[in-house]
Amino acid sequence: MDIWLATLNKNKVKEFRDLFKSTDYTIRAASELDFYKAPKEDGDSFVANALIKAKSLKAAISNKDCWVVGEDSGLEVEGLNGLPGIHSARYAGENALDIQNNDKLVKMLGLRSPQNRKARYWCQIVAIGPNNQELEIGAPCNGLIGVTPKGSGGFGYDPLFIPEGFEKTMAELLPAEKHEISHRGKAAREFLNKLTS
Ligand code: IMP
Repeated sequence: MDIWLATLNKNKVKEFRDLFKSTDYTIRAASELDFYKAPKEDGDSFVANALIKAKSLKAAISNKDCWVVGEDSGLEVEGLNGLPGIHSARYAGENALDIQNNDKLVKMLGLRSPQNRKARYWCQIVAIGPNNQELEIGAPCNGLIGVTPKGSGGFGYDPLFIPEGFEKTMAELLPAEKHEISHRGKAAREFLNKLTS
């Protein structure tokens, strides 16, 4: 069966493809539909935004005999009262590059709360099934924000995020190591368990 991902973020698609590669499910991406436009993410929570994404893609595909996954994720930094949170992709402005978001994070943390670098990634999945049944799965990955970016793997805030129990950043891990501990890896495995149980 197909699992359609309601995202135009190529990094997320790649990670989901890796995570589902030895399963009976085929990951399809919204980018396959050239007419598809990402919806406005104006929800006030990860769940609300994930649902907006899932519903918009479900409406856009013609064969509904599949699962459609809305995934909303982000970084919550304790010393910044949970920011950037649901605004992670646009922290430094609409269409901001990862490097601009990372620069802003370093700057804000330096200004506001250099001591409190505790953070977590959160991955929220809201999935709509063939019979319109809905599944909600959320998973964290705890860590700390480093002082300077390191590594070239992953995407987004990975060069600054040091996962709990590690002395390197997420961007210095191999993809398989990231999947093992990441918020997305955990949520995807739980989703798969629910699909197959
Ligand atoms: P979304 O596409 O609105 O869900 O925004 C997700 C944003 O959160 C990304 O653009 C990144 O800035 C951040 N993010 C989510 N997951 C990760 C991750 O695995 N690594 C690094 N940054 C992430």
